[in-house]
Amino acid sequence: GNITELLLSRIRDVEDYPEQGVMFKDITPLLADPEAFTALVDALAGIAVSSGATKIVGLEARGFILGAPVAVRAGLGFIPVRKAGKLPGATLRQAYELEYGSAEIEVHAEDLSAGDRVMVVDDVLATGGTAEASLQLIRRAGAEVAGLAVLMELGFLGGRARLEPALRGAPLEAV
Ligand code: IMP
Repeated sequence: GNITELLLSRIRDVEDYPEQGVMFKDITPLLADPEAFTALVDALAGIAVSSGATKIVGLEARGFILGAPVAVRAGLGFIPVRKAGKLPGATLRQAYELEYGSAEIEVHAEDLSAGDRVMVVDDVLATGGTAEASLQLIRRAGAEVAGLAVLMELGFLGGRARLEPALRGAPLEAV
């Protein structure tokens, strides 16, 4: 609809970034446009509220920029999932495979518990590796996954198919 068109018009395609052959989706023009940014936050918050989420998890780093205002708009707490080594307290850590090598993400163990329903927010779903690891973290913490909400999905990378087992029926929504 109109919102989707407005949002897509504010995403810049950057060729060969961060490396040769990659078309990077740059959301900074969207963030700089208050009408588009507000529309995006409202849309993501609507997804979170209708899913019955009790907490918002944002994935470092652009998932912080989106997830924090979504949490405020939805009246929910915000939980950062960070790259390993950045959180000071006791954490749960999850490794996942990248195209070349592997990476690890962490969450503060005390931030999630049984009874929580968690909506994960990020900007772009690419291969789905980061999102998949975040769903594993949420479940290991004893919490339930309410869903995954992103601005956009790079369909050709197959993230949705990869995430299907980890979602266990929870929705993956792109605005
Ligand atoms: P993954 O491949 O789905 O695990 O993506 C890894 C991380 O890189 C995610 O947090 C995405 O938000 C980010 N990412 C991947 N491709 C793009 C892009 O084209 N634009 C912005 N972020 C991206």
